[in-house]
Parts: sequence; C-alpha cells; structure tokens
Amino acid sequence: MIDLHTHSLLSDGVLLPSELVRRAEEKGYEAIAITDHVDFSNIDFVIPRIAKTCKILNKYWKIKSIPGVEITHVPPESIKGLVKFARGAGAKIVVGHGETISEPVLSGTNRAFIEARVDILAHPGMICAEDIRLAKKRGVFLEITARKSHSKPNKRLVKLALKHKAPLVLNTDTHAPCDLIDDERRNRFLTGLGLDGNGIRQIVRNSRVLAKVRKSGPTS
Ligand SMILES: [Zn+2]
Ligand SMILES: [Zn+2]
Repeated sequence: MIDLHTHSLLSDGVLLPSELVRRAEEKGYEAIAITDHVDFSNIDFVIPRIAKTCKILNKYWKIKSIPGVEITHVPPESIKGLVKFARGAGAKIVVGHGETISEPVLSGTNRAFIEARVDILAHPGMICAEDIRLAKKRGVFLEITARKSHSKPNKRLVKLALKHKAPLVLNTDTHAPCDLIDDERRNRFLTGLGLDGNGIRQIVRNSRVLAKVRKSGPTS
C-alpha cells in the first residue's frame, strides 16, 4: 500500500507522525505521506517538523515516509502562493482539500488547486468534466478516497476519470489507526467501484510515481 494523504496530531489526526508511520509499516505499507491540514496560520510550523521526522524515520525504517501538506479551506485566490510556499518549505506531496460534498468548501477551489498544479486533488466531490480534463492536462492526480464522509461521489469520479483518461490515486485520508488499510482491502475497495485488475494496477502505479518508489521497495 502506498498512501499519500494522512493526518497526524500536527493537525486533526490522533497519532504522532512517528506512530502513524510505524502503524502503517506494520500494515505492510511501502510508503506514506503525512499531509496535515494547513492554512496561513500553521504551514510554516507544520512542514519543517514533518520533514525532520520523515528524514530521521527514513534513516532507520524500510517504509518510505514523505513530508507533505493538505492545503485546506483557504481562499481559492490564495492557493497558488500557498502551494509555492509549501514546496519551498519542503513538502514533497502537496494535497489540495477539494470540494467534498460533506463540507462547505468554496466553489472554485478544485479549479484553483488544479491550476496551481498540486500533486493530488483530494475528495473533489462533484467535480465537473472540464476540471477533470484540466487535471489530466496539468498532471494533477485525482483522489479516490477511502474516507467515508467524502466517499459518496467515488463511483462517479472513477467513471469520469476513466472516460477522460485522467490519473487517479487511492488514499485513505487517515486520521486514526483504524483508517489504515492493507493491500487486500484496497483491492476490494477499488473492485467495489467497478475497477478491474488493470485499473487497480494503474492506480497503484500512479501512487508509486508520486511517491517515487520502485516496485522492489523504497529508494533513497
Ligand atoms: Zn481533506
Ligand atoms: Zn485529509
């Protein structure tokens, strides 16, 4: 399993980054990105702390830890600058908190994240076909979410993304240890969304590309 969207207690997750990574390794994960919620108030605080922790864990553990952020509920007009700041501060995976149906995320947020070329647009809700095509063009991966509160439009997203050949990834959006999933559960989940073996393999490959890990295991 490669999971590029998870939260630690540096935002609203319940585990320390180290325990989150340890529990993921125990689940059989190859790689995990820690992508805590950030806005203008905490982005400069969160990134260096996650980056430092990942660097140390990568020295000692086989699982690859990747420092990231999830830019969350900020004005769409400010997204471009914040993405740039995140990358400059050391975030290797920048996730955009997309227009989920379960929160009042401002309309135009999906588009702004795609234009800003985040790595992953998370839980994009009822994303329009135009934005899906733009995501493909800009190389932004669209997220299938295993998180229940965001997951209702998954089937629609898969259908539209396959139609427009836009790249998909599966993430758990883990906040607590019980949210982590193993390969078997991932495959069952994706099968339930109508994906076949080829479709699932492509999604795993996409995650691998973003995580920069080879099939044989983590690289340095
Ligand atoms: Zn989110
Ligand atoms: Zn999240």
